[in-house]
Amino acid sequence: MKHILEMTCDDLTAELQGRGLPRFRGRQVFEWIWAKRVADLNAMTNLSKDLRSKLAKSIHPTTSRIVRRRDAEDGVSKLLLEFTDGDRIETVLIPTREGETASPRRTACISTQVGCAMGCVFCASGLDGLRRDLTAGEIVEQVFQWDISLGDDLRVTHVVLMGMGEPLANYDATIAAIGILIDPDRGGLSARHITLSTVGLPHRMRQLAREGIPLTLAVSLHAPNDELRQKLIPAAKGMPIADLIAAGNEYFSYTGRELTLEYVLLAGVNDSTQCAEELAHLTRKLRCNVNLIRYNTVEGLSFDRPAERAVLAFRDQLRRRGANVQIRASRGADAEAACGQLRQTSVSP
Ligand code: SAH
Repeated sequence: MKHILEMTCDDLTAELQGRGLPRFRGRQVFEWIWAKRVADLNAMTNLSKDLRSKLAKSIHPTTSRIVRRRDAEDGVSKLLLEFTDGDRIETVLIPTREGETASPRRTACISTQVGCAMGCVFCASGLDGLRRDLTAGEIVEQVFQWDISLGDDLRVTHVVLMGMGEPLANYDATIAAIGILIDPDRGGLSARHITLSTVGLPHRMRQLAREGIPLTLAVSLHAPNDELRQKLIPAAKGMPIADLIAAGNEYFSYTGRELTLEYVLLAGVNDSTQCAEELAHLTRKLRCNVNLIRYNTVEGLSFDRPAERAVLAFRDQLRRRGANVQIRASRGADAEAACGQLRQTSVSP
């Protein structure tokens, strides 16, 4: 049987009809799940008690168990989820702080794989390699878990595919999950509120351009030339920056959406004035916004976060060259929930 969150109302109706239940039961259960975000069949009070407890044995809208929750001082929370096969992933919720945006946002940062095969040398998620892809249902379920935990009819408003894993290396499940999240009858999110971050797989970026989904595509550049980039991102070997830029331009021409170029600042590695100059030059070749990310310390790795004045100087140099550039707010550090800190096996209790 498919993951319940992957089912449309028709799928669920057919499933329940196959068990001898009348048609309307499908819509009833579907509405509990998607209109009310109820995952517990026993709580579906317009079904008879008997039916509830019978269905509760085999209908599981969420297949993961919350192993641990950590709440950072700044309002960011992290869940460690375990699937029935014992594989674990992390997902993060980042609520805006009061007055930060016109209306409050609740952004879920979700994972697409258990571990990661890309091997970025500064990232915690790939330290143990890739264990497996997540299914579409398992990707969607992370947002669902946050909706449940928010309560009070509050919902996740934005999703960033920036957790563990490389979304475009798990392409079909990722696209299916996005389809569910933006389906008005299910996730109900606007595609414009979804950001997919990729290490930059050009052929998949081109394929994504043709899906006709107006999401924001963020590309992890992290270095302004191929030599340095391939040192930091082993998976970038054989994928020159020129190909990335070409695929990015194609993405823009199909979707009309400007790209985000992500750039993790590593002290003494990619934060020189020469790097800023080269990066500024690249930004002229693509409709893009640069997002500078302060490196978040990962235990066991020997990189350092640049001093604050180096971060600002890097930004200012890009601005002077006419680039659109922002420094990403770094939050959730005290729950080990900041960018690059998510991993399948927990390093701390
Ligand atoms: N596989 C996707 C998603 C990765 S996570 C990608 O490569 O884009 C989202 C962002 O966090 C990426 O830009 C990633 O390179 C960055 N990141 C990884 N480790 C980091 C760290 N230790 N500090 C700051 N950012 C990090």
